[in-house]
Amino acid sequence: MSHFLDRLRFLTDTREAFSGGHGETRREDRSWEDAYRQRWSHDKIVRSTHGTNCTGSCSWKIYVKGGIVTWETQQTDYPRTRPDMPNHEPRGCSRGASYSWYLYSGNRLKYPMVRSALLQSWRELRKRCDPLEAWKSIVENDTSYKRQRGLGGFLRASWEEANEIVAAANVYTVKKHGPDRVIGFSPIPAMSMVSYAAGSRYLSLIGGVCMSFYDWYCDLPPASPMTWGEQTDVPESADWYNSTFIVMWGSNVPQTRTPDAHFMTEARYKGTKIVSVFPDYAEGAKFGDLWLHPKQGTDAALAMAMGHVILKEFHVDRPSAYFRDYCRRYSDMPMLVRLVKQGAQYVPERFVRCSDFADKLGEANNAEWKTVCVDEASGALAVPLGSIGFR
Ligand code: SF4
Repeated sequence: MSHFLDRLRFLTDTREAFSGGHGETRREDRSWEDAYRQRWSHDKIVRSTHGTNCTGSCSWKIYVKGGIVTWETQQTDYPRTRPDMPNHEPRGCSRGASYSWYLYSGNRLKYPMVRSALLQSWRELRKRCDPLEAWKSIVENDTSYKRQRGLGGFLRASWEEANEIVAAANVYTVKKHGPDRVIGFSPIPAMSMVSYAAGSRYLSLIGGVCMSFYDWYCDLPPASPMTWGEQTDVPESADWYNSTFIVMWGSNVPQTRTPDAHFMTEARYKGTKIVSVFPDYAEGAKFGDLWLHPKQGTDAALAMAMGHVILKEFHVDRPSAYFRDYCRRYSDMPMLVRLVKQGAQYVPERFVRCSDFADKLGEANNAEWKTVCVDEASGALAVPLGSIGFR
């Protein structure tokens, strides 16, 4: 019988009761339920991750039917890193769990889209101007398209058209304001090497500023690659467990590093003290033994004040053997810095380089890229290995 006829006969159909009337036996078509069962059917399971927009690299089981991803579950076969460390698994986040919806979503962006007000002006101007003239005319005479921001209204453009707009905008900015006013980021060096290399190379060749992709995603502390010059050249999140004191700042771990957030919880169970710095009571704030909530926009001042206390109390007033040793071995603090007169006093300017000396301190090549320090044993100037001029 069909489901439709079953519905029509719903009131007249006879049913047998059982369990004292608590249940009844029906003779109706239930094949419609197969749609729900088939939702979870699959031909095979493959291993994958969500590399396009995330460095989490969580391992997932991908259930595939007819070449279509039907659903995903987290892998649970991570090896132990060390017997006394917490497990990595299960790794994953809610964005990852719904990633296959995104794959087939009608909202997925597959083509360049340009705000219609801008695109229409551009197309009109391109009928009579070259690309640079067209962009110049827009930014200098008609910026009404900016008022459309936030209102939607995007039109599909061709790749050639989008590339031409971007190129014209970049050339205009370089000519008018200088190349270092073009600032960009290039996504995920660890996962999308070609994309990363192309973007970085482009910015470097035109003299633009290469930002870390952390600046865009903010899924890990942007200060890390800025300070150390390396992306993710730090211990992995599991190492939080080995710490006894953590300042959690610049990353809202449960939201932006969901698969690693459990390490923060586990570290707390072990007794690690955590200070969380968030202007609002964000998810990460809950981990803190102490929640510091500076007013929005003042966190840089707070960090500088902390740095000032460390420098004043542990390097100037009461030099600490531990800090001195650390700075000498792992930081660039021993390098000499040029002092320049500013008003009545001298202020630090830049590192002293071999090229600042008439004899370049004997360095035959890259003297402008080699920093200088004082050899404590002899008191003479020395050029230690490791600066960029030696690479
Ligand atoms: S963090 Fe989320 S999106 Fe990133 S790989 Fe893991 S599950 Fe996927």
